[in-house]
Amino acid sequence: MTEETVSEDVEILFYCKKCQRVISNPVRKGQKYEYSCPECKEDRVTFGTKKAISDFYHIKEKDLEQMLNHKSQ
Ligand SMILES: [Zn+2]
Repeated sequence: MTEETVSEDVEILFYCKKCQRVISNPVRKGQKYEYSCPECKEDRVTFGTKKAISDFYHIKEKDLEQMLNHKSQ
């Protein structure tokens, strides 16, 4: 029983509810499973599988991919 089972099939994404976008480098807050957004500094960051995030926030998979590939240049 491990809580952090990492499978290559299950990609966990972090999503900032304020910026309304997927973020790739969330800032973990202390020991808790809470993260803050490096962009807006707010802790309205949620995370889940790619499917869960796209379903819950109604993001098209194509848009999601675009957010993920949109690395800072
Ligand atoms: Zn943010």
